[in-house]
Amino acid sequence: MFKHATLNGKTAVVTGGSHGIGRATAEAFCEAGASVIVVDHEASSVDLQGSAGIISVVDTDVTDPALPSRLDSILHETGKSLDIFVNNAGLYKGGHALESSEDDFRDSLEVNIIATFRLSRWAVSKMILAGGAIVNVSSIFGVVGSPSACGYAASKSALIGMTIQMATDFGANRIRVNAVAPGVIETRRTAKTIREDHWYRHIMVDGAPLRRPGTPEEVARAVRFLSSDEASFITGQVLAVDGGWAVGRFPRENAIDGV
Ligand code: NAD
Repeated sequence: MFKHATLNGKTAVVTGGSHGIGRATAEAFCEAGASVIVVDHEASSVDLQGSAGIISVVDTDVTDPALPSRLDSILHETGKSLDIFVNNAGLYKGGHALESSEDDFRDSLEVNIIATFRLSRWAVSKMILAGGAIVNVSSIFGVVGSPSACGYAASKSALIGMTIQMATDFGANRIRVNAVAPGVIETRRTAKTIREDHWYRHIMVDGAPLRRPGTPEEVARAVRFLSSDEASFITGQVLAVDGGWAVGRFPRENAIDGV
């Protein structure tokens, strides 16, 4: 009854799987026994094909309208059926509303929500008979105000809305749809800001109860949990992986002494 769930025999697609959170997720899935298809527009810059468990690498942008049919072909050629889809690839463009052009705003929506919608529709169509799990990588800035990233925040909030709606619509098909909302995670995208922007560090890192940035592996473990049968009764949820930042308004400077 409490046997530890693995992903043995499952097939997963991870977008943005060449670096950062997506890469750690692909690795965590492989470690749990899944077969993984990675989609990434920088796939050629890293050697993923050699990793055990990675069965295919698609070097394209998630906005590519031909991507669903390419994924269809891979499933057909490998004789696999889809069990898990992780929408991780995302575009971050900073700027408050007066600094962001309509094109900037549209770019964020195009990658973070329209492409995710297209790929999620495809994933659901593959899972409609046998069930499955979709995990969307949103952001804590889809839940609370961000340091001025209007299009990004709007798109990551929309992703949460889509998560809830698709969970509602496809629950009867045994398709679970959840999201993670990472806080500051140290990846190539954030490392310089964490290191050099003292105000950001003060608010986002020292301002969190756990008082450190998260690692891609810490988000990957949450994604793996939500993708697995361990989370069999969880759908339509947004799991913050943020060191407590969004709820911990008064973090302590020092640990409390033992008594
Ligand atoms: P990263 O830059 O380290 O890795 C992103 C990967 O996705 C790269 O391999 C990149 O080539 C790929 N990618 C990006 N856009 C793509 C596209 N349009 N098509 C195909 N591949 C694409 O980034 P990360 O920090 O790991 O971020 C991953 C996700 O996590 C994003 O959705 C991001 O918004 C979200 N997120 C990150 C943080 C953080 O602090 N790092 C916080 C909250 C949310």
